Amino acid sequence: MATTLRHPTDRTCERCGREEQWDADGETWCVVDDNAGSIYCIHEWDINGSFVPFEEYH
Ligand SMILES: [Zn+2]
Repeated sequence: MATTLRHPTDRTCERCGREEQWDADGETWCVVDDNAGSIYCIHEWDINGSFVPFEEYH
């Protein structure tokens, strides 16, 4: 049983939905495919834990 120490390797903007992944080689964030979100957005990243993008309220 391996224990994996998890750290943020991807993040999603809570405002525009932009997705990025951490590029360990370039030591920078890279946009995931064609989900760049809005360039005018002040991105608010959800890398602090268990943010649920679409929570249903009944
Ligand atoms: Zn954003």
